[in-house]
Amino acid sequence: MQLIVANYKMNGDKQFYLSAASKLNNLRVKGAKLVLCPPFCYLADFKLKTAKLGCQDISADAEGKSTGQISAKMLKDFGVEYSIVGHSERRAMGEGEGLVARKVKMATDNKIIPIVCVGENEKSEKQSLIKTQVKTALSLANKSAEIVFAYEPVWAIGTGDTPTVKHIDSAIKIVKNECAKNGFSCKVLYGGSVNEKNFSEFLSSSADGFLLGGVSLKLDKFIEIVKGVKK
Ligand code: PEP
Repeated sequence: MQLIVANYKMNGDKQFYLSAASKLNNLRVKGAKLVLCPPFCYLADFKLKTAKLGCQDISADAEGKSTGQISAKMLKDFGVEYSIVGHSERRAMGEGEGLVARKVKMATDNKIIPIVCVGENEKSEKQSLIKTQVKTALSLANKSAEIVFAYEPVWAIGTGDTPTVKHIDSAIKIVKNECAKNGFSCKVLYGGSVNEKNFSEFLSSSADGFLLGGVSLKLDKFIEIVKGVKK
């Protein structure tokens, strides 16, 4: 069963989420498990019977002096079961490995499954950076926790430039090996410029599913991918 995660980022409006909810609620999802991650303010409009609810970030703190942040407990009140953690767009705003590790711990301690984004910045960069990202992300979490990783080479996000299946497979191997070394067994998704034209090529990789950005906003194309994932 492939895991398909939609990251809507800071896009859409109430009308978009209401109409997406009604379209996606009629979808027959067979080969995939869907996780939809709208902006926080639309979580309440996005409760679907065909999908799990996710969010795009989670506070590392339990409560208190964290102006503007949303705690794990608050997210649970909205029925959130997954949270993206350490997306490269957040890392670019200064979110470091230590903070990512605290967010992973906060999520898993509250039974929210983190989807941790890792990946090299430049095409020419060595994939060994991923090892450190995975190791640190797992460092505070309980070994029994369910954690998902998303291999997202930063150079592929929103650019239309995608890695080869061989490149994806070697990164996924690094992530899975590092998880095993640290006592975890994690699913690993691929994310970065996946669309309705290229997704079938990536289905032949060892990825356990996809993290989709831009194409999530194009509902018909998104549905085409969900329907086409039968692995
Ligand atoms: C992302 O931002 O996580 C992502 C995968 O974006 P896109 O699909 O648009 O490259």
